[in-house]
Amino acid sequence: MSNCVFCSIISGDIPSEKIYEDEHTLAFLDINPVNPGHTLVVPKKHSENLYDIETTDWMQMMQTVKLLAPKIKKAVEADGINIEMNNEKAAGQIIFHSHVHIVPRTFDDGLRHWPGAPYKGEGARDTAEKIRALL
Ligand code: AMP
Ligand code: ZN
Repeated sequence: MSNCVFCSIISGDIPSEKIYEDEHTLAFLDINPVNPGHTLVVPKKHSENLYDIETTDWMQMMQTVKLLAPKIKKAVEADGINIEMNNEKAAGQIIFHSHVHIVPRTFDDGLRHWPGAPYKGEGARDTAEKIRALL
């Protein structure tokens, strides 16, 4: 897709530090890593995010994530790994080509778990009911 940074990386028009490629997916280092080894896995076929990605592309992307994550952890001697995907602007998505982040973590990297707070009253049941009603 024209005007898509990740499509341009896939086609080779924009350089990247590639670490893996197969028929359906490409993995390369994030240009602004949270920690060294922070990697993006993308489907070669353009989709914007979780909503429009084809299930087969999603499965291929997950397969590549599973293959790479332990190798990346070992290579950078991390203590753990976050797997993350941002969908839509409100969730922090800035590049609108589906991608999953593999983020190596260390005990002393200063990042925190995201803030959480318990539900109030019947909040958990009400929320679960709303979700179940759509399934
Ligand atoms: P997001 O859309 O929020 O999931 O994040 C997009 C990610 O793409 C950010 O972490 C950027 O640092 C990364 N990024 C943007 N442009 C490039 C590029 N040319 N090469 C590698 N990573 C990039
Ligand atoms: Zn694209």
